[in-house]
Amino acid sequence: MSKYSDKYLGRRSIQFLFVIIVVLMGIQFFDFVQSVSESNLTLSTRPAGVEAFLPISALVALKAWLTTGVFDRIHPAGLVIFLAAMSVSFLWKRAFCSWICPLGTLSEGLALLGQKIFKRNFVPPRWLDYGLRSLKYLILGFFIFFIVVIMDGGSAYAFLQTPYNMVADVKMLEFFINMTWIGFTVVTGLILLSVLIENFWCRYLCPYGALLGLFGIISPWKIRRESHTCISCARCSSACPNHINVDKMQKVWSPECTGCLNCVKECPVSNTLKFGLLNPSFSLTPKKLALCVIGLWFGIIGIAKLTGHWETSISPEMYRMLIPMMDQFSHF
Ligand code: SF4
Ligand code: SF4
Repeated sequence: MSKYSDKYLGRRSIQFLFVIIVVLMGIQFFDFVQSVSESNLTLSTRPAGVEAFLPISALVALKAWLTTGVFDRIHPAGLVIFLAAMSVSFLWKRAFCSWICPLGTLSEGLALLGQKIFKRNFVPPRWLDYGLRSLKYLILGFFIFFIVVIMDGGSAYAFLQTPYNMVADVKMLEFFINMTWIGFTVVTGLILLSVLIENFWCRYLCPYGALLGLFGIISPWKIRRESHTCISCARCSSACPNHINVDKMQKVWSPECTGCLNCVKECPVSNTLKFGLLNPSFSLTPKKLALCVIGLWFGIIGIAKLTGHWETSISPEMYRMLIPMMDQFSHF
């Protein structure tokens, strides 16, 4: 059975929903930037959710919040989304990566394309795979060192107020719209590698996934295998997009586990593979997990909106002033 068969339609539907949301937000944000730049009297609404693409700013905002007690007013939605992703992953492994993240969905789609073209995805030898997997922890370590260790609370707060951080979302849009040759080469290279090697970006390079994986290690919900009913068919391991040898484990601790539940869906013996707590009666089927992930995600965002922790405090006038000058802003 292919890892990409119709069995996984439920998860696919949720991934598709989030891709649609992100695409609509992108179009709306483009409209907003256009209307600000052209000094239109009728301003388009800025979708606060675009701040999901500013994880470094969110990490700085978390540091500032924990040390000064001030919740970021510049990109509050970015911090809320960061907290929501950490909460989902703390409970259900890296479920954010396999159910919500549009880059995870894109990676899966590109791997599917690779399977269609080459009839398989290529797997690097084990020594190379280990070496490459450490890259995302090195990138994460770099950011943790500078933001958590070196930067003090006052500097973190000050960074959030810089013009560079204020227009970081517009700079991100600019990167994709007016891509340089270097940017184009890097993005094209990553796409090609993702066609050849399953989850190339997520498995080897994404520091966000690395951080969520560390949270996932202590997640109370884990894949658990009943060895006395297991028939050792290894279908669970073949279905795992992260190459985890589920059939050899009692419990999956790996930070690579994204809680996709492909393995649970593939297991032919009922009640042998579960995504559960220590007490087996609290296990989650893929449908229940989908409801939990969606419920927690939109619950946190709903609370943030109701309590005024979602919309930026940057006024349209401020955007009008900053956007024409944004090429002069650097993060130093
Ligand atoms: S172990 Fe199971 S839930 Fe975890 S990534 Fe592999 S297939 Fe998905
Ligand atoms: S798919 Fe189920 S029965 Fe087969 S090896 Fe995995 S846990 Fe055991």
